[in-house]
Amino acid sequence: TWDYAPAPESRAIANLKPSYRMFLDGEFVEGSGEPLKTINPATEEVLAEVSTASASDVDRAVKVAKRAQDKVWGPMSGAERAKYIFRIARMMAERSRELAVLESLDNGKPIRESRDVDVPTAAAHFFYHAGWADKLDYAGYGPNPRPLGVAGQVIPWNFPLLMAAWKIAPALACGNTVVLKPAETTPLTALVLAEIIQQAELPPGVVNILPGAGDVGAELVNHPGVNKIAFTGSTEVGKIIQKSLAGTRKKLTLELGGKAANIVFDDAPLDQAVEGIVNGIFFNQGHVCCAGSRLLVQESIAEELLEKLHKRVSTLRIGDPLDKNTDVGAINSRDQLTKIQDLVATGEAEGAVRWTSACPLPEKGFFFAPTVFAGVSQAMRIAREEIFGPVLSVLTFRTPDEAIAKANNTPYGLSAGIWTEKGSRILWAANQLRAGVVWANTFNRFDPTAPFGGYQESGFGREGGRTGLEAYLDV
Ligand code: NAD
Repeated sequence: TWDYAPAPESRAIANLKPSYRMFLDGEFVEGSGEPLKTINPATEEVLAEVSTASASDVDRAVKVAKRAQDKVWGPMSGAERAKYIFRIARMMAERSRELAVLESLDNGKPIRESRDVDVPTAAAHFFYHAGWADKLDYAGYGPNPRPLGVAGQVIPWNFPLLMAAWKIAPALACGNTVVLKPAETTPLTALVLAEIIQQAELPPGVVNILPGAGDVGAELVNHPGVNKIAFTGSTEVGKIIQKSLAGTRKKLTLELGGKAANIVFDDAPLDQAVEGIVNGIFFNQGHVCCAGSRLLVQESIAEELLEKLHKRVSTLRIGDPLDKNTDVGAINSRDQLTKIQDLVATGEAEGAVRWTSACPLPEKGFFFAPTVFAGVSQAMRIAREEIFGPVLSVLTFRTPDEAIAKANNTPYGLSAGIWTEKGSRILWAANQLRAGVVWANTFNRFDPTAPFGGYQESGFGREGGRTGLEAYLDV
Protein backbone atom coordinates (compact mmCIF):
# COMPACT_ATOMS: atom_id res chain seq x y z
CA THR A 1 0.00 0.00 0.00
CA TRP A 2 1.04 3.58 -0.45
CA ASP A 3 -0.31 7.05 0.14
CA TYR A 4 -2.90 8.47 -2.20
CA ALA A 5 -2.67 12.16 -2.93
CA PRO A 6 -5.85 13.79 -1.60
CA ALA A 7 -8.06 14.70 -4.53
CA PRO A 8 -9.01 18.29 -3.50
CA GLU A 9 -5.35 19.22 -3.26
CA SER A 10 -4.56 17.85 -6.70
CA ARG A 11 -7.53 19.72 -8.16
CA ALA A 12 -6.10 22.91 -6.68
CA ILE A 13 -2.62 22.26 -8.04
CA ALA A 14 -4.13 21.55 -11.45
CA ASN A 15 -6.16 24.75 -11.13
CA LEU A 16 -9.11 22.64 -12.24
CA LYS A 17 -12.15 24.66 -13.23
CA PRO A 18 -15.72 23.37 -13.43
CA SER A 19 -15.96 24.38 -17.06
CA TYR A 20 -13.68 25.17 -19.99
CA ARG A 21 -14.42 27.07 -23.16
CA MET A 22 -12.89 26.80 -26.60
CA PHE A 23 -10.20 29.22 -27.79
CA LEU A 24 -11.08 31.15 -30.93
CA ASP A 25 -9.62 34.39 -32.28
CA GLY A 26 -7.69 35.02 -29.07
CA GLU A 27 -10.72 34.67 -26.78
CA PHE A 28 -12.26 31.89 -24.73
CA VAL A 29 -15.77 31.52 -26.06
CA GLU A 30 -18.71 29.17 -25.69
CA GLY A 31 -18.86 26.73 -28.59
CA SER A 32 -22.19 26.09 -30.22
CA GLY A 33 -21.75 22.29 -30.12
CA GLU A 34 -23.11 20.04 -27.37
CA PRO A 35 -20.81 20.42 -24.29
CA LEU A 36 -18.85 17.31 -23.34
CA LYS A 37 -17.93 16.04 -19.90
CA THR A 38 -14.37 14.94 -19.39
CA ILE A 39 -13.79 12.39 -16.66
CA ASN A 40 -10.93 11.23 -14.48
CA PRO A 41 -10.38 7.65 -15.70
CA ALA A 42 -8.86 6.65 -12.36
CA THR A 43 -12.02 7.53 -10.40
CA GLU A 44 -14.71 7.83 -13.08
CA GLU A 45 -15.65 11.26 -11.64
CA VAL A 46 -16.48 14.16 -13.91
CA LEU A 47 -13.59 16.61 -13.96
CA ALA A 48 -15.10 19.41 -15.99
CA GLU A 49 -17.58 20.36 -18.65
CA VAL A 50 -16.02 21.48 -21.90
CA SER A 51 -17.71 23.39 -24.68
CA THR A 52 -17.37 21.96 -28.16
CA ALA A 53 -17.32 23.42 -31.63
CA SER A 54 -20.01 23.21 -34.28
CA ALA A 55 -19.44 23.35 -38.03
CA SER A 56 -19.96 27.12 -37.96
CA ASP A 57 -17.35 27.50 -35.19
CA VAL A 58 -14.88 25.55 -37.31
CA ASP A 59 -15.66 27.79 -40.25
CA ARG A 60 -15.09 30.90 -38.16
CA ALA A 61 -11.85 29.52 -36.72
CA VAL A 62 -10.44 28.73 -40.16
CA LYS A 63 -11.38 32.22 -41.38
CA VAL A 64 -9.73 34.02 -38.45
CA ALA A 65 -6.69 31.77 -38.80
CA LYS A 66 -6.45 32.68 -42.47
CA ARG A 67 -6.75 36.38 -41.71
CA ALA A 68 -4.08 36.12 -38.99
CA GLN A 69 -1.80 34.21 -41.36
CA ASP A 70 -2.19 36.68 -44.22
CA LYS A 71 -2.01 39.86 -42.23
CA VAL A 72 0.15 39.20 -39.18
CA TRP A 73 1.88 35.90 -38.64
CA GLY A 74 2.97 35.14 -42.20
CA PRO A 75 4.53 38.55 -42.90
CA MET A 76 6.20 38.72 -39.47
CA SER A 77 9.97 38.19 -39.40
CA GLY A 78 11.22 34.85 -38.15
CA ALA A 79 13.08 36.56 -35.32
CA GLU A 80 9.86 38.15 -34.11
CA ARG A 81 7.92 34.86 -34.30
CA ALA A 82 10.71 33.19 -32.34
CA LYS A 83 10.17 35.57 -29.42
CA TYR A 84 6.55 34.52 -29.11
CA ILE A 85 7.36 30.82 -29.36
CA PHE A 86 10.14 31.09 -26.77
CA ARG A 87 7.67 32.86 -24.50
CA ILE A 88 5.21 29.96 -24.81
CA ALA A 89 8.00 27.50 -23.99
CA ARG A 90 9.05 29.42 -20.89
CA MET A 91 5.49 29.81 -19.65
CA MET A 92 4.85 26.10 -20.10
CA ALA A 93 7.96 25.32 -18.08
CA GLU A 94 6.82 27.74 -15.35
CA ARG A 95 3.42 26.05 -15.15
CA SER A 96 4.80 22.53 -15.46
CA ARG A 97 3.48 21.28 -12.11
CA GLU A 98 -0.05 22.43 -12.87
CA LEU A 99 0.10 20.97 -16.37
CA ALA A 100 1.48 17.63 -15.16
CA VAL A 101 -1.21 17.16 -12.52
CA LEU A 102 -3.95 18.21 -14.92
CA GLU A 103 -2.63 15.81 -17.56
CA SER A 104 -2.60 12.91 -15.10
CA LEU A 105 -6.14 13.76 -13.93
CA ASP A 106 -7.56 13.92 -17.44
CA ASN A 107 -5.57 11.13 -19.07
CA GLY A 108 -4.84 8.68 -16.23
CA LYS A 109 -1.09 8.51 -16.82
CA PRO A 110 1.29 8.30 -13.83
CA ILE A 111 2.40 11.69 -12.52
CA ARG A 112 6.04 10.61 -12.79
CA GLU A 113 5.55 10.34 -16.55
CA SER A 114 3.56 13.53 -17.07
CA ARG A 115 6.07 15.38 -14.88
CA ASP A 116 9.25 13.89 -16.37
CA VAL A 117 8.23 13.20 -19.98
CA ASP A 118 5.05 14.81 -21.28
CA VAL A 119 5.39 18.35 -19.96
CA PRO A 120 9.16 18.86 -20.33
CA THR A 121 9.16 17.30 -23.80
CA ALA A 122 6.23 19.50 -24.82
CA ALA A 123 8.09 22.61 -23.63
CA ALA A 124 11.23 21.34 -25.38
CA HIS A 125 9.32 21.25 -28.67
CA PHE A 126 8.51 24.95 -28.34
CA PHE A 127 12.10 25.80 -27.35
CA TYR A 128 13.48 23.80 -30.25
CA HIS A 129 11.15 25.19 -32.89
CA ALA A 130 11.53 28.75 -31.61
CA GLY A 131 15.19 28.31 -32.49
CA TRP A 132 14.29 27.49 -36.08
CA ALA A 133 11.97 30.42 -36.75
CA ASP A 134 14.69 32.91 -37.69
CA LYS A 135 16.95 30.37 -39.42
CA LEU A 136 14.69 28.94 -42.10
CA ASP A 137 16.01 31.32 -44.76
CA TYR A 138 19.55 30.08 -44.25
CA ALA A 139 18.92 26.41 -43.68
CA GLY A 140 19.41 25.24 -47.22
CA TYR A 141 15.82 25.76 -48.29
CA GLY A 142 16.76 28.61 -50.61
CA PRO A 143 15.64 32.12 -49.94
CA ASN A 144 12.27 32.76 -48.43
CA PRO A 145 10.59 29.38 -47.94
CA ARG A 146 6.85 29.98 -47.69
CA PRO A 147 4.46 28.85 -44.99
CA LEU A 148 1.54 26.77 -46.25
CA GLY A 149 -1.21 28.86 -44.65
CA VAL A 150 -3.72 27.44 -42.18
CA ALA A 151 -2.85 24.10 -40.58
CA GLY A 152 -5.74 21.92 -39.39
CA GLN A 153 -4.47 19.58 -36.69
CA VAL A 154 -6.24 16.64 -35.07
CA ILE A 155 -4.68 14.80 -32.13
CA PRO A 156 -5.37 11.73 -29.95
CA TRP A 157 -5.75 11.24 -26.20
CA ASN A 158 -2.57 9.37 -25.32
CA PHE A 159 -0.21 12.40 -25.06
CA PRO A 160 -2.68 15.28 -25.09
CA LEU A 161 -0.30 18.16 -24.33
CA LEU A 162 2.74 16.67 -26.04
CA MET A 163 0.84 16.00 -29.28
CA ALA A 164 -0.49 19.57 -29.22
CA ALA A 165 3.10 20.81 -28.88
CA TRP A 166 4.37 18.52 -31.67
CA LYS A 167 1.74 19.97 -33.95
CA ILE A 168 1.61 23.65 -32.98
CA ALA A 169 5.32 24.46 -32.49
CA PRO A 170 6.61 23.64 -36.02
CA ALA A 171 3.52 25.17 -37.65
CA LEU A 172 4.12 28.47 -35.86
CA ALA A 173 7.86 28.48 -36.44
CA CYS A 174 7.29 28.24 -40.19
CA GLY A 175 4.72 31.06 -40.23
CA ASN A 176 1.51 29.03 -40.44
CA THR A 177 -1.51 29.55 -38.25
CA VAL A 178 -3.37 26.75 -36.51
CA VAL A 179 -6.77 25.30 -35.80
CA LEU A 180 -6.31 22.29 -33.52
CA LYS A 181 -8.84 19.76 -32.29
CA PRO A 182 -7.87 17.84 -29.15
CA ALA A 183 -9.28 14.38 -28.46
CA GLU A 184 -12.71 14.26 -26.86
CA THR A 185 -11.57 12.44 -23.70
CA THR A 186 -8.56 14.71 -22.99
CA PRO A 187 -9.19 18.33 -23.94
CA LEU A 188 -7.98 20.07 -20.76
CA THR A 189 -4.23 20.58 -21.12
CA ALA A 190 -4.61 21.85 -24.69
CA LEU A 191 -6.97 24.50 -23.31
CA VAL A 192 -4.44 25.50 -20.64
CA LEU A 193 -1.89 25.75 -23.44
CA ALA A 194 -4.39 28.09 -25.11
CA GLU A 195 -4.37 30.19 -21.93
CA ILE A 196 -0.58 30.33 -22.11
CA ILE A 197 -0.78 31.32 -25.76
CA GLN A 198 -3.21 34.10 -24.84
CA GLN A 199 -0.96 35.31 -22.00
CA ALA A 200 2.05 35.18 -24.32
CA GLU A 201 0.09 37.71 -26.39
CA LEU A 202 0.15 35.87 -29.67
CA PRO A 203 -1.92 37.83 -32.16
CA PRO A 204 -5.57 36.70 -32.12
CA GLY A 205 -6.36 33.91 -34.56
CA VAL A 206 -2.81 32.54 -34.81
CA VAL A 207 -3.76 29.54 -32.68
CA ASN A 208 -7.34 28.31 -32.21
CA ILE A 209 -8.25 25.28 -30.12
CA LEU A 210 -11.63 23.69 -30.73
CA PRO A 211 -12.65 20.68 -28.64
CA GLY A 212 -15.12 18.19 -29.99
CA ALA A 213 -15.52 14.65 -31.26
CA GLY A 214 -14.61 13.13 -34.63
CA ASP A 215 -17.25 15.14 -36.48
CA VAL A 216 -15.46 18.37 -35.55
CA GLY A 217 -12.22 16.82 -36.78
CA ALA A 218 -13.91 15.92 -40.05
CA GLU A 219 -15.28 19.46 -40.47
CA LEU A 220 -11.80 20.84 -39.96
CA VAL A 221 -10.14 18.36 -42.33
CA ASN A 222 -12.67 19.06 -45.06
CA HIS A 223 -12.82 22.84 -44.71
CA PRO A 224 -11.69 24.38 -48.00
CA GLY A 225 -9.75 27.14 -46.20
CA VAL A 226 -7.31 24.70 -44.58
CA ASN A 227 -4.04 24.20 -46.48
CA LYS A 228 -2.41 21.45 -44.48
CA ILE A 229 -3.70 18.62 -42.32
CA ALA A 230 -1.62 16.99 -39.61
CA PHE A 231 -3.29 14.01 -38.00
CA THR A 232 -2.22 11.66 -35.22
CA GLY A 233 -4.56 8.83 -34.34
CA SER A 234 -5.78 5.49 -35.56
CA THR A 235 -4.92 4.00 -38.93
CA GLU A 236 -8.64 3.64 -39.58
CA VAL A 237 -9.38 7.37 -39.22
CA GLY A 238 -6.14 8.24 -41.03
CA LYS A 239 -7.41 6.37 -44.07
CA ILE A 240 -10.78 8.12 -43.91
CA ILE A 241 -8.98 11.47 -43.89
CA GLN A 242 -6.69 10.48 -46.74
CA LYS A 243 -9.66 9.46 -48.87
CA SER A 244 -11.59 12.61 -48.06
CA LEU A 245 -8.66 14.76 -49.22
CA ALA A 246 -8.35 13.06 -52.61
CA GLY A 247 -8.79 15.68 -55.31
CA THR A 248 -7.83 18.57 -53.04
CA ARG A 249 -4.40 20.19 -52.95
CA LYS A 250 -4.12 20.02 -49.17
CA LYS A 251 -0.87 18.66 -47.80
CA LEU A 252 -1.22 15.78 -45.40
CA THR A 253 0.89 14.07 -42.76
CA LEU A 254 -0.37 11.02 -40.88
CA GLU A 255 1.01 9.54 -37.66
CA LEU A 256 -0.91 6.33 -37.13
CA GLY A 257 -0.72 3.04 -35.28
CA GLY A 258 2.12 0.60 -34.74
CA LYS A 259 3.10 -2.88 -33.63
CA ALA A 260 6.77 -2.44 -32.83
CA ALA A 261 9.23 -5.27 -32.36
CA ASN A 262 11.66 -5.04 -29.48
CA ILE A 263 14.43 -7.50 -30.40
CA VAL A 264 16.71 -9.01 -27.77
CA PHE A 265 19.79 -10.80 -29.13
CA ASP A 266 21.70 -13.41 -27.14
CA ASP A 267 24.55 -11.04 -26.30
CA ALA A 268 22.29 -8.33 -24.87
CA PRO A 269 22.76 -6.97 -21.34
CA LEU A 270 19.70 -8.73 -19.96
CA ASP A 271 18.92 -6.63 -16.89
CA GLN A 272 19.07 -3.48 -18.95
CA ALA A 273 16.95 -5.13 -21.64
CA VAL A 274 14.30 -6.07 -19.08
CA GLU A 275 14.01 -2.43 -18.01
CA GLY A 276 13.75 -1.43 -21.67
CA ILE A 277 11.08 -4.04 -22.39
CA VAL A 278 9.02 -2.90 -19.39
CA ASN A 279 9.38 0.75 -20.36
CA GLY A 280 8.70 -0.14 -24.00
CA ILE A 281 5.29 -1.65 -23.35
CA PHE A 282 4.06 -0.41 -19.96
CA PHE A 283 5.02 3.27 -20.27
CA ASN A 284 1.79 5.28 -20.50
CA GLN A 285 -0.26 2.05 -20.01
CA GLY A 286 0.90 0.98 -23.47
CA HIS A 287 -1.14 3.80 -25.03
CA VAL A 288 1.81 4.57 -27.24
CA CYS A 289 1.82 4.30 -31.02
CA CYS A 290 5.49 3.26 -30.92
CA ALA A 291 5.10 0.88 -27.93
CA GLY A 292 7.34 -2.21 -28.02
CA SER A 293 4.34 -4.52 -28.10
CA ARG A 294 6.09 -7.51 -29.68
CA LEU A 295 9.09 -8.85 -27.81
CA LEU A 296 11.31 -10.94 -30.08
CA VAL A 297 13.83 -12.85 -28.01
CA GLN A 298 16.60 -15.16 -29.20
CA GLU A 299 15.74 -18.73 -28.27
CA SER A 300 18.95 -19.49 -26.36
CA ILE A 301 18.27 -16.75 -23.78
CA ALA A 302 14.47 -16.82 -23.83
CA GLU A 303 14.04 -18.75 -20.61
CA GLU A 304 16.44 -16.62 -18.60
CA LEU A 305 15.02 -13.38 -19.98
CA LEU A 306 11.41 -14.36 -19.35
CA GLU A 307 12.22 -15.32 -15.79
CA LYS A 308 13.74 -11.90 -15.16
CA LEU A 309 10.84 -10.20 -16.92
CA HIS A 310 8.33 -12.15 -14.86
CA LYS A 311 9.98 -10.97 -11.64
CA ARG A 312 10.11 -7.39 -12.79
CA VAL A 313 6.51 -7.27 -14.03
CA SER A 314 5.25 -8.75 -10.77
CA THR A 315 6.69 -5.75 -8.90
CA LEU A 316 4.93 -3.10 -11.00
CA ARG A 317 2.60 -0.86 -9.02
CA ILE A 318 -0.73 -0.11 -10.63
CA GLY A 319 -3.03 2.53 -9.22
CA ASP A 320 -3.55 6.20 -8.49
CA PRO A 321 -1.91 8.18 -11.30
CA LEU A 322 -1.16 11.01 -8.87
CA ASP A 323 0.90 8.80 -6.57
CA LYS A 324 4.59 9.23 -7.35
CA ASN A 325 5.17 5.50 -6.74
CA THR A 326 2.73 4.40 -9.42
CA ASP A 327 4.25 2.68 -12.45
CA VAL A 328 1.09 2.06 -14.44
CA GLY A 329 -1.95 4.33 -14.22
CA ALA A 330 -5.48 4.16 -15.58
CA ILE A 331 -6.65 3.20 -19.05
CA ASN A 332 -7.95 6.38 -20.63
CA SER A 333 -11.56 5.33 -21.24
CA ARG A 334 -14.02 2.52 -20.77
CA ASP A 335 -14.08 2.01 -24.55
CA GLN A 336 -10.34 1.54 -24.66
CA LEU A 337 -10.48 -0.83 -21.68
CA THR A 338 -13.08 -2.95 -23.49
CA LYS A 339 -10.96 -3.00 -26.64
CA ILE A 340 -7.96 -4.25 -24.65
CA GLN A 341 -10.02 -6.90 -22.83
CA ASP A 342 -11.45 -8.18 -26.13
CA LEU A 343 -8.04 -8.55 -27.76
CA VAL A 344 -6.58 -10.20 -24.68
CA ALA A 345 -9.43 -12.72 -24.77
CA THR A 346 -8.43 -13.66 -28.33
CA GLY A 347 -4.88 -14.32 -27.12
CA GLU A 348 -6.15 -16.76 -24.52
CA ALA A 349 -8.53 -18.40 -26.99
CA GLU A 350 -5.70 -18.83 -29.50
CA GLY A 351 -3.61 -20.62 -26.88
CA ALA A 352 -0.96 -18.13 -25.77
CA VAL A 353 0.20 -18.38 -22.15
CA ARG A 354 -0.85 -15.35 -20.11
CA TRP A 355 0.62 -13.94 -16.95
CA THR A 356 0.08 -10.59 -15.27
CA SER A 357 1.44 -8.26 -12.62
CA ALA A 358 0.75 -9.21 -9.00
CA CYS A 359 -0.43 -5.82 -7.73
CA PRO A 360 -4.16 -5.70 -6.93
CA LEU A 361 -6.12 -3.26 -9.08
CA PRO A 362 -8.13 -0.39 -7.60
CA GLU A 363 -11.84 -1.13 -7.45
CA LYS A 364 -12.95 2.07 -9.13
CA GLY A 365 -11.65 3.45 -12.38
CA PHE A 366 -10.46 1.88 -15.63
CA PHE A 367 -7.48 -0.30 -14.79
CA PHE A 368 -5.89 -3.22 -16.55
CA ALA A 369 -3.12 -5.38 -15.13
CA PRO A 370 0.14 -5.34 -17.12
CA THR A 371 -0.03 -8.55 -19.14
CA VAL A 372 2.53 -10.72 -20.87
CA PHE A 373 1.68 -13.44 -23.36
CA ALA A 374 4.33 -16.10 -23.92
CA GLY A 375 4.22 -18.76 -26.63
CA VAL A 376 2.80 -16.35 -29.19
CA SER A 377 2.85 -17.23 -32.86
CA GLN A 378 2.87 -14.71 -35.68
CA ALA A 379 -0.61 -15.70 -36.83
CA MET A 380 -2.31 -14.77 -33.56
CA ARG A 381 -4.28 -11.54 -33.42
CA ILE A 382 -2.28 -10.37 -30.39
CA ALA A 383 0.85 -10.57 -32.57
CA ARG A 384 -0.68 -8.73 -35.50
CA GLU A 385 -3.09 -6.10 -34.19
CA GLU A 386 -2.35 -2.97 -32.25
CA ILE A 387 -3.76 -3.40 -28.73
CA PHE A 388 -2.84 0.08 -27.48
CA GLY A 389 -2.73 -1.16 -23.91
CA PRO A 390 -0.31 -2.75 -21.40
CA VAL A 391 -0.08 -6.09 -23.20
CA LEU A 392 3.14 -7.66 -24.44
CA SER A 393 3.34 -10.57 -26.90
CA VAL A 394 6.52 -12.66 -26.72
CA LEU A 395 7.86 -14.48 -29.78
CA THR A 396 11.20 -16.18 -30.22
CA PHE A 397 13.75 -16.42 -33.03
CA ARG A 398 16.92 -18.42 -33.75
CA THR A 399 18.99 -16.30 -36.13
CA PRO A 400 19.36 -12.55 -36.68
CA ASP A 401 17.82 -12.91 -40.15
CA GLU A 402 14.78 -14.58 -38.66
CA ALA A 403 14.48 -11.76 -36.11
CA ILE A 404 14.40 -9.16 -38.87
CA ALA A 405 11.91 -11.17 -40.93
CA LYS A 406 9.56 -11.48 -37.95
CA ALA A 407 10.00 -7.84 -36.94
CA ASN A 408 9.12 -6.70 -40.46
CA ASN A 409 6.18 -9.08 -40.69
CA THR A 410 3.65 -6.38 -39.89
CA PRO A 411 1.59 -3.93 -41.90
CA TYR A 412 2.90 -1.17 -39.61
CA GLY A 413 6.38 0.37 -39.43
CA LEU A 414 6.67 3.07 -36.82
CA SER A 415 9.42 1.96 -34.46
CA ALA A 416 11.62 -0.92 -33.34
CA GLY A 417 14.17 -1.70 -30.64
CA ILE A 418 17.41 -3.68 -30.69
CA TRP A 419 19.28 -5.02 -27.66
CA THR A 420 22.83 -6.19 -28.32
CA GLU A 421 26.40 -5.41 -27.29
CA LYS A 422 27.55 -5.53 -30.93
CA GLY A 423 27.77 -2.16 -32.65
CA SER A 424 27.96 -3.78 -36.08
CA ARG A 425 24.73 -5.63 -35.40
CA ILE A 426 22.99 -2.42 -34.37
CA LEU A 427 23.93 -0.80 -37.69
CA TRP A 428 22.99 -3.89 -39.68
CA ALA A 429 19.62 -4.38 -37.98
CA ALA A 430 18.70 -0.70 -38.05
CA ASN A 431 19.11 -0.79 -41.82
CA GLN A 432 17.09 -3.98 -42.22
CA LEU A 433 14.17 -2.88 -40.06
CA ARG A 434 11.30 -1.19 -41.84
CA ALA A 435 10.55 1.33 -39.10
CA GLY A 436 10.77 5.10 -38.91
CA VAL A 437 12.53 5.04 -35.55
CA VAL A 438 14.95 2.38 -34.33
CA TRP A 439 16.22 2.50 -30.76
CA ALA A 440 19.34 0.61 -29.71
CA ASN A 441 19.71 -0.46 -26.09
CA THR A 442 16.96 1.95 -25.08
CA PHE A 443 13.29 2.49 -25.94
CA ASN A 444 10.66 5.24 -26.10
CA ARG A 445 13.14 8.09 -26.17
CA PHE A 446 11.71 11.26 -27.70
CA ASP A 447 13.58 14.34 -28.69
CA PRO A 448 12.46 17.35 -30.73
CA THR A 449 15.67 17.25 -32.77
CA ALA A 450 14.90 13.80 -34.20
CA PRO A 451 12.32 13.20 -36.92
CA PHE A 452 9.56 10.81 -35.85
CA GLY A 453 7.12 9.00 -38.12
CA GLY A 454 6.30 5.76 -39.84
CA TYR A 455 6.25 3.54 -42.88
CA GLN A 456 3.33 1.66 -44.38
CA GLU A 457 0.15 1.62 -42.25
CA SER A 458 1.89 3.74 -39.62
CA GLY A 459 1.49 6.74 -41.88
CA PHE A 460 3.75 9.18 -43.69
CA GLY A 461 5.56 12.41 -43.03
CA ARG A 462 7.85 13.20 -40.12
CA GLU A 463 7.49 15.38 -37.06
CA GLY A 464 10.51 16.86 -35.30
CA GLY A 465 13.97 17.72 -36.50
CA ARG A 466 14.63 19.60 -39.69
CA THR A 467 12.60 17.05 -41.69
CA GLY A 468 9.54 17.89 -39.61
CA LEU A 469 9.68 21.52 -40.75
CA GLU A 470 9.30 20.49 -44.37
CA ALA A 471 5.73 19.43 -43.67
CA TYR A 472 4.90 23.08 -42.93
CA LEU A 473 6.77 24.83 -45.75
CA ASP A 474 6.61 25.32 -49.47
CA VAL A 475 10.23 25.25 -50.46
P1 NAD B 1 -8.81 8.09 -33.32
O1 NAD B 1 -8.26 7.98 -34.68
O2 NAD B 1 -10.12 7.50 -33.05
O3 NAD B 1 -8.91 9.62 -32.89
C1 NAD B 1 -7.86 10.52 -33.06
C2 NAD B 1 -8.44 11.90 -33.24
O4 NAD B 1 -9.16 11.94 -34.47
C3 NAD B 1 -9.42 12.33 -32.16
O5 NAD B 1 -9.23 13.69 -31.89
C4 NAD B 1 -10.77 12.10 -32.82
O6 NAD B 1 -11.79 12.90 -32.33
C5 NAD B 1 -10.46 12.46 -34.26
N1 NAD B 1 -11.34 11.87 -35.28
C6 NAD B 1 -12.10 10.76 -35.19
N2 NAD B 1 -12.74 10.55 -36.36
C7 NAD B 1 -12.37 11.55 -37.21
C8 NAD B 1 -12.67 11.87 -38.56
N3 NAD B 1 -13.48 11.12 -39.30
N4 NAD B 1 -12.08 12.95 -39.12
C9 NAD B 1 -11.24 13.71 -38.40
N5 NAD B 1 -10.92 13.46 -37.12
C10 NAD B 1 -11.47 12.39 -36.52
O7 NAD B 1 -7.67 7.50 -32.40
P2 NAD B 1 -7.62 7.48 -30.81
O8 NAD B 1 -8.48 6.38 -30.35
O9 NAD B 1 -7.87 8.84 -30.28
O10 NAD B 1 -6.07 7.17 -30.58
C11 NAD B 1 -5.57 5.88 -30.62
C12 NAD B 1 -4.89 5.60 -31.93
O11 NAD B 1 -4.00 6.65 -32.32
C13 NAD B 1 -4.05 4.37 -31.89
O12 NAD B 1 -4.35 3.54 -32.98
C14 NAD B 1 -2.61 4.87 -31.96
O13 NAD B 1 -1.72 4.00 -32.53
C15 NAD B 1 -2.73 6.10 -32.72
N6 NAD B 1 -1.65 7.04 -32.36
C16 NAD B 1 -0.61 7.22 -33.23
C17 NAD B 1 0.43 8.06 -32.92
C18 NAD B 1 1.58 8.30 -33.85
O14 NAD B 1 2.38 9.19 -33.60
N7 NAD B 1 1.72 7.56 -34.90
C19 NAD B 1 0.42 8.74 -31.71
C20 NAD B 1 -0.64 8.54 -30.85
C21 NAD B 1 -1.67 7.69 -31.20
